Amino acid sequence: MKGFVPPPRYSGMPYGNEPLPITREITVTEGISVKNLAEKLGIRAKDIIASLLMSGVFVTVNQSLDAEMVKDVAAKFGASAAVISYEEELENQAIEDVLDVGNTDVVEVPRAPVVTVMGHVDHGKTSLLDAIRETNVAEGEAGGITQHIGAYKVKFTKEGSPASGREIVFLDTPGHEAFTRMRARGAKVTDIVIIVVAADDGVMPQTLEAIDHAKAAEVPIIVAVNKIDKPEANPDRVKKQLADRGLIPEEWAAGAEGTVFVEVSAKKRIHLDLLLEMICLVSDIKAPKATPGRKAVGSVLEAKLDRGRGAVATVLVQDGALHLNDSYIVGNTFGKVRAMFDDRGRAIEEAGPSTPVEVLGLESMPDAGDTFLVVADRDKAKSIAQYRKMKERDAQLAKSSRVSLEGLAEQIRQAGVKDLALIIKGDVTGSVEVLADSLAQMSTEKVRIKVIRSGVGSITESDVLLAAASNAIVIGFNVRPERKAADLAQQEGVDIRLHSIIYELQDEMRLAMMGLLEPVFRENYLGRAEVLNVFRIPKVGVIAGCRVQDGVIRRDCEIKLTRDGEQLFKGKVSSLKRFKDDAREVTNGMECGIGLGGFSDIKEGDLIESFSTERLAADLGALTSAKA
Ligand code: GDP
Repeated sequence: MKGFVPPPRYSGMPYGNEPLPITREITVTEGISVKNLAEKLGIRAKDIIASLLMSGVFVTVNQSLDAEMVKDVAAKFGASAAVISYEEELENQAIEDVLDVGNTDVVEVPRAPVVTVMGHVDHGKTSLLDAIRETNVAEGEAGGITQHIGAYKVKFTKEGSPASGREIVFLDTPGHEAFTRMRARGAKVTDIVIIVVAADDGVMPQTLEAIDHAKAAEVPIIVAVNKIDKPEANPDRVKKQLADRGLIPEEWAAGAEGTVFVEVSAKKRIHLDLLLEMICLVSDIKAPKATPGRKAVGSVLEAKLDRGRGAVATVLVQDGALHLNDSYIVGNTFGKVRAMFDDRGRAIEEAGPSTPVEVLGLESMPDAGDTFLVVADRDKAKSIAQYRKMKERDAQLAKSSRVSLEGLAEQIRQAGVKDLALIIKGDVTGSVEVLADSLAQMSTEKVRIKVIRSGVGSITESDVLLAAASNAIVIGFNVRPERKAADLAQQEGVDIRLHSIIYELQDEMRLAMMGLLEPVFRENYLGRAEVLNVFRIPKVGVIAGCRVQDGVIRRDCEIKLTRDGEQLFKGKVSSLKRFKDDAREVTNGMECGIGLGGFSDIKEGDLIESFSTERLAADLGALTSAKA
């Protein structure tokens, strides 16, 4: 029977270990269970289990599979599998819904704009939010909005105004930190930013920071010139100062794109209705829309652990509608809407687009900025959440896609043309300006260099946050990052470059753009410990009971776990304890418990070696001459 090719069979095992020829394609969603994959492939679940068992992997019928496994299994049964995220599935579903013209559930309707208030400290952000909340609660609503759930909705009413009757959502956490943290996590919730400037104080450093953040997010700005009730108020000075920074008041802009300025007093409640009216008008330019007939998609604004109520999250429903008893995933946890409350503390059964709601019924705490997605049923929610949790450890997705000078050329290759955003901090105004100009001029056909902030002073947390949210690189010229900023940069994977000679910096940029900049790392050995015992602690995971044999193990160091000379794990220490207490470091001769994140394959006799990684500056001289 030479040349015999077995016919494709869609049930039962493929012949021997020979995969079937690929004859079809399937698309599955992340975290699909064995059972559902079997259905997709038209085979029995136990065939998948058997096939995986042959490669040494034991799975159960309801277990979620990761993308690699799905692809392998599918290939064995003659299919090539594309694995998409749940967000992508929803998007596909949305496209299908739109094509399905007969479906009346998918009608698009305008939704209320969502507004964030930013500005310098003490310029009146909180007062303004409070004043708007108190004056715009419809009559007859006893008590008004007393709940602070992170956002509230008001109705604008003014006789004769075309915008009368429209609603606006205000995010109740003023300031650019919250805004940028959300954005750094990929959440885009704000439609309009209000920059509050006190008319008696004028433009201040945080005013400028707020403008940078709003611009980087490409969100329209309205300026509220506050405290005009004060005798020393000088709104014209504020306008001039901001016009110098590119925010030209509409009345001066003459045809060009102007910014709406509204003179208000939060304290005396002057022109608050005008501000609301302007928000409606500015919102009309983009005219945000939503589809209440779809399953809800939103973002977490706040989450807290409440005595008696468990994990409670404020969710801003951005599209679709959320209903009582809907199952959802949020971040890597999931749940079912057991109860919902609006910003007035009233229990509600449905929340449409642009509605902030408090949601009860979470399995565990999500983070602010996490996406909230309603899914068809609880099993699906659970399996996706499980899968994401599993993936979280190795995949810090957002971070790996973050730009770095070393990775720049690769990203250009993938993206074609790339915008490279820079934040430049320096020691004197003159050098910062020269740098900003000279770097911007280095733009090529492939890389557009865009300086999104430049200023004098050390690199702050705010710089790093802006960089994280805008995928920018931070350049320090004769300045260093503050300690907290350095920590945050490491956490967020933001690339900070420190230089003191302009042409070296330019060389580095040039090489990065050509893809010639290699990161140079050095591992510095710190110490070694032997595993004496292995403890399996419910909910915590596996802990290696060790004795340090040499040097030191530190809480913040990196480690390698080796068995008989073979390296099985490399990563960070996730916990370090002496007896029951957390320890910063444990030295030679002492015993300790070490947790290795989710890594659990630890055995007695394994060796744990600790080290720190140091990034060395690239040798630009050698690189330049190598290229020449
Ligand atoms: P935030 O730090 O920007 O949130 O500022 P606050 O809302 O806490 O206000 C700072 C101070 O300015 C408080 O003492 C307020 O009472 C005062 N303030 C806020 N708005 C006005 C206003 O319109 N007029 C006057 N006179 N004072 C105001």
